[in-house]
Amino acid sequence: MFEVTVQAGFSSGHYLRNYRGKCENPHGHNYRVLVTLIGEQLDEAGLLLDFKLLKQVLRPTVEFLDHQMINDLEPFTTLNPSAENLARYFYDKTAAQMYEMTSGRVRVKDCTLYETDTSFARYYDAAAGGESPAGK
Ligand SMILES: [Zn+2]
Repeated sequence: MFEVTVQAGFSSGHYLRNYRGKCENPHGHNYRVLVTLIGEQLDEAGLLLDFKLLKQVLRPTVEFLDHQMINDLEPFTTLNPSAENLARYFYDKTAAQMYEMTSGRVRVKDCTLYETDTSFARYYDAAAGGESPAGK
């Protein structure tokens, strides 16, 4: 299996609903998102996917969130903008496009969302064959 990962950053505000503590108040993060692709077959150029293409796929989502209060943006007007939900949001936004672009040759393995240098959340779809926990 081959994997490639690209990273992008954005600076946004958020606050957590139904949460007691510092993060219930509006505050900002310099977020980082890492998207990892996985596949068995390389293209004619010997690439799983051109890093440049993956960055292009990510860009609209990053620009949508950058310098915004995430809680004001759909679907985060109702969905809590936790690191977990943001990781899943990036996964969903990239997975469908990746399938279309490569006819299923390349899949999104996982998305990792750093809220700080030392705290991150990761989302993957176990059923899609990324990392399959035993028994699934
Ligand atoms: Zn926060």
